[in-house]
Amino acid sequence: MERIIYLDHAATTRPAKKALEVMLPYCRESYGNPSSSYRLSEASRQAVADARKVIGEAMGAHADQIYFTGGGTESDNWALKAVAETYRHKGKHIITTQIEHHAVLHTCAYLERRGFDVTYLPVNEQGSISVKQLEKAIRPDTVLVSVMFANNEIGTLQPVREIGRIARKKDILFHTDAVQAFCQVPIDVEEMQIDLLSASSHKCYGPKGVGCLYAGERVRLASFLHGGAQEKGLRAGTENVAGIAGFGAAVSYCMETMDDRAGEERRLRDHLIERVLSEIPYARLNGSKKNRLPGNANFSFQFIQGENLLMLLDGDGICASGGSACNTGSHEPSHVLKAIGLPDELANASLRLTLGEETTEEEIDSAVASIKKHVQQLRDGSPLYEAFLKDARSGWM
Ligand code: PLP
Repeated sequence: MERIIYLDHAATTRPAKKALEVMLPYCRESYGNPSSSYRLSEASRQAVADARKVIGEAMGAHADQIYFTGGGTESDNWALKAVAETYRHKGKHIITTQIEHHAVLHTCAYLERRGFDVTYLPVNEQGSISVKQLEKAIRPDTVLVSVMFANNEIGTLQPVREIGRIARKKDILFHTDAVQAFCQVPIDVEEMQIDLLSASSHKCYGPKGVGCLYAGERVRLASFLHGGAQEKGLRAGTENVAGIAGFGAAVSYCMETMDDRAGEERRLRDHLIERVLSEIPYARLNGSKKNRLPGNANFSFQFIQGENLLMLLDGDGICASGGSACNTGSHEPSHVLKAIGLPDELANASLRLTLGEETTEEEIDSAVASIKKHVQQLRDGSPLYEAFLKDARSGWM
């Protein structure tokens, strides 16, 4: 089989062996419905309870504050819609950022159509919000601040502690979309004064289609799916037992390996950034050099189309992304890259490489060689690049 160099861990991760092994029995012999009272169901019930405990501990929460969902998108929808509904008597103003994932942005747009007022905080050129601007944006009718922990495209980590402190001081609920950050960087919901947190299993070496919402004691959480009594009657539907067990095992595995994994990813990421910026002319790093997720690197290469580069890299067996995977097929420049101030041509010339636990230095070096070759090849065919070189030669630049 062709060798694959997988550098798209922000899109999804390969499930850990441990997670798959834990899941299998719940698809075969221990298939009982957790809500049934006979002994066959005991193992399923226990698996869900165990995963809830492990996942809660991984973020400094109690097991009974964790609600299983169908993934990060559902958790974001639930957090925003439920707070909006429950607290609308208090106020109809929500604060978020311009660089959230569409699971938050489109939910905000939905709420705006229902009479809510949403402030979208801008970010600086590194992708960080200003805490001062956040403070200024707070109004007497603000009920929720929703700021992502880490951005999925450029990896920027937000000042979550500060945001939590401000929101708590003003008695406003704070939700964070931690889909990219959970299991990659330490999170403690108590210490960081986070009231609601979204996480997703497939971003941290677990199966797809399962995630969770943390809701702390200050939150009166409204029901999201109506039906049976699962998840304290707030998210009805027979639990995805195998998925939840796999999520729990993946989180437990990630907690054991996080320090070493993050250290190695940081080393390889910096090596990658160093090589790309020093060896490829007219390349820029998008986002912050240091204040970013351990495994994230995002570049723009002047005079090329990112889509073309992705296709050529795919031909070499390299899996990468031009922004968020959810945007594949969309020709709109990334809203995140636009928000950090990139013009369309640079936003459309971007390449996101996200490293994971299996990434090696040899893979990074092969990827750099391919990127170098293809960027040059694309530029050689670009009339814009030709014109640029001509101007440069005639002393215009
Ligand atoms: N939020 C962020 C920051 C993400 O990166 C993603 C997925 O890429 C999601 C939410 C959606 O998560 P899921 O794929 O589990 O629905």
